Amino acid sequence: MDMLINGKLMDKTEKIEIRNPFNNEVIDTVPQGNHEDVQNALIAANRAKKALNDLSSREISENLYGIHEELSKNSKSLAKLITIDCGKPIKDSIEEVNRSIQTILLGAEESKRIYGETIPMDACAGGENVIGFTMRLPLGVVAAITPFNYPLNLAIHKVAPAIAAKNSVILKPSMKAPLTALKMAEIMDFYLPDGALNAVTGHGRTIGDEIVTSPVVNKISFTGSVEIGEHISKQAGMKKLTLELGGNDPLIVLEDADIEKAVEAAVRGSYLNAGQVCIGVKRVILDDKIADEFIQKFVNNTKKLVTGDPMDPETDVGPLINKGAAIEVENRVNEAVNDGAELLCGGKREGTLYLPTILDNVDSKMKIVQYETFGPISPIIRINGIDEAVKVANNTKYGLQAGIFTNNINNAMKAVKEIESGGVIVNKPSTYRMDNMPFGGCKMSGLGKEGIKYAIEDMTKTKIVVINPL
Ligand code: NAD
Repeated sequence: MDMLINGKLMDKTEKIEIRNPFNNEVIDTVPQGNHEDVQNALIAANRAKKALNDLSSREISENLYGIHEELSKNSKSLAKLITIDCGKPIKDSIEEVNRSIQTILLGAEESKRIYGETIPMDACAGGENVIGFTMRLPLGVVAAITPFNYPLNLAIHKVAPAIAAKNSVILKPSMKAPLTALKMAEIMDFYLPDGALNAVTGHGRTIGDEIVTSPVVNKISFTGSVEIGEHISKQAGMKKLTLELGGNDPLIVLEDADIEKAVEAAVRGSYLNAGQVCIGVKRVILDDKIADEFIQKFVNNTKKLVTGDPMDPETDVGPLINKGAAIEVENRVNEAVNDGAELLCGGKREGTLYLPTILDNVDSKMKIVQYETFGPISPIIRINGIDEAVKVANNTKYGLQAGIFTNNINNAMKAVKEIESGGVIVNKPSTYRMDNMPFGGCKMSGLGKEGIKYAIEDMTKTKIVVINPL
């Protein structure tokens, strides 16, 4: 598949092979972009600002509706592409495409609602008879850098609000799974001025810094690991920055919870996309009073999951993104078991597949819960009561989302107020995300918010206009 620069698909002789994570077959190649390609994309994006600004909000909205229709027509092939590109089970890829189509629709709607406000200037002495209002204006060029695990929806979460607010975009998808974002760019380009959306391929370590430090770029919207996010924030200088980084989200289950629902949430939240989800359930915090009952059901339901070929509609858990990632997960589990955790199920790797794994008696100090473990692992930490649950939940450097199951409003509200995270989800797992809600973490999980309306706020600047009538 090709890069998209200034409205043209571009190939190169230097290529990167893209492999299917399930069987390691080469499925395609993408051009290995270099300094010149990045510069061409930046020049095109800079030039396209005027064409975008010449469009009315109504025209921008109509174009986004057009993209929505075209993505809908291509939904089946996009879902298959996600599955061969990143190994996501096909039923979950279909869900990702459906969400993406909804995300672009939110962009089409929000593009017509970018309002300023009237300022009551006369609230201050000296403001009598003065008119003041704000306008929200585009920033210019947005760099959108995306990870492998939701290759379509996370790209749309950046491109849709950027275009809705009349910014041009330089998109750099992950080289672990670039194909769906490139297909998306090709589809979108038909509806946009040349250069309004550019998609450049190449390894982050070779072209990333050039994009991030370019004076043409006004805003960086990055989704990915804490490590790369920290590097980008050091390079970004005074540029506006949104960082959607890793998570280590807890699922707390208290003694008064609906156990059946909590077990269902733990299974779905822990193993969705083989645990490669930023808001996946990465720590299960159980009140000791219900722990044994919960664990028995949790293990039973986990054992029923089908692990294997992601293209098979029956598959629940597909491969990890590559063998290195699967070995890293295997090493974390082995280390935890050596340090005293009890393996209740799973704990086996076959190539890139890792069986859904539950570990009991996990200590908060173990690496498997101190760091984000991006795999189908459910470490259980036992606690007594809400106070200890909140303390354990907060005992990491991350703060993305958290889930709590309880029927006690006081316990729920204590979690809502005291858990340090971008969101607390009551009686659903941390994985719950509607694409219009404000989304983004605190602590090392990041800065700023996505969720179309909120991303538009971060992709526009406010200008105050003051009129002093003569
Ligand atoms: P990653 O950090 O390895 O890569 C993300 C992107 O950064 C890729 O496009 C990569 O090419 C690029 N990159 C690498 N080096 C760069 C550099 N020097 N400059 C600029 N860009 C560079 O992440 P990944 O492995 O693709 O994704 C997994 C991580 O993403 C996990 O930590 C996960 O929790 C996180 N994630 C967060 C969210 C969220 O919304 N908070 C969503 C999905 C994934």
